[in-house]
Amino acid sequence: MKKLLNKYSIPLAALIIFTIVGLIVMWYRDIRYFYLFAGMGLMEFSTRVIVIHYPQTKQFFRLSVQFIIGGFLLFWLSIFIGVNFQFPQVFFDLSSGVVTGALIQTLVARVALPFIFGNAFCSRACWTGFFFEITNSKKNISKPPKQRIEWLAWAYLLALVIVPFAIAGFHNPAEDEGLRRMWIVGENLFIVSVGFALTFISGSRSYCRMLCPFITVSGLFSKFALFKITPIASDSCTSCNKCTTACPMLIDVKELVANTEKVSHKLCIVCERCVDSCPEDILKYTYKKAK
Ligand code: SF4
Ligand code: SF4
Ligand code: SF4
Repeated sequence: MKKLLNKYSIPLAALIIFTIVGLIVMWYRDIRYFYLFAGMGLMEFSTRVIVIHYPQTKQFFRLSVQFIIGGFLLFWLSIFIGVNFQFPQVFFDLSSGVVTGALIQTLVARVALPFIFGNAFCSRACWTGFFFEITNSKKNISKPPKQRIEWLAWAYLLALVIVPFAIAGFHNPAEDEGLRRMWIVGENLFIVSVGFALTFISGSRSYCRMLCPFITVSGLFSKFALFKITPIASDSCTSCNKCTTACPMLIDVKELVANTEKVSHKLCIVCERCVDSCPEDILKYTYKKAK
């Protein structure tokens, strides 16, 4: 029994935690939130169980889950229903005294869940992340890029707090259906085009590494995550560097393995590309200690 629980710890944790989150949010809102979160939990559970038995399908199922959840959040809930999940909407909503999807998304995916799964939302649900995954990753640029400029990320986040409050003082998109929809489309287009352009200047997943306010927030908590990318047999490392080369967030995974350390980096999006790239099967997404 213990062996079975160990083997399926991540899918079981996903199912249980998403169901609990669904029940909590349903308590405050309505039953649709339970369906949404329980559905995500079920999808995580079933795909992760398949991947345990067929590890070669891992990236296929991860990207499929990201496409389905991200597509649902963007095309159905955002564009069709009109719920804006992007960061500034939290402050549009707060300035008009309402709680909507943006705040729920931020609290659940960027504050609560990172304590358990790290920044897994980025690699399994974010629609802009999916776009960057298929267009941005690993573009070669002439000199090695800076991984992150911390003050720039925080300045961008601060601007995304101040500007919405200032705009809301004149005309609040939270209170104007037409303006909100225009804002949703405009903001998403802005993020993907800036992200796409930045990749050619500063390399792989530049928007995610340098600017995204969500990872700036969730990165504060993800270092305490229960499940992390972990070396389980550091002694077998051949220093081939494939794990570091595979990382879209430019994390030096090889160095962490050499020091028998878990990947606690705030930018780790838990895409598990490093895990899949290791010919010695040294890396695993687990709660267990690094060895
Ligand atoms: S860093 Fe931001 S844009 Fe990139 S995947 Fe995560 S939430 Fe999405
Ligand atoms: S360290 Fe591994 S899991 Fe984390 S972002 Fe890099 S490749 Fe993905
Ligand atoms: S890919 Fe595996 S063997 Fe190669 S450096 Fe990374 S951990 Fe070591």
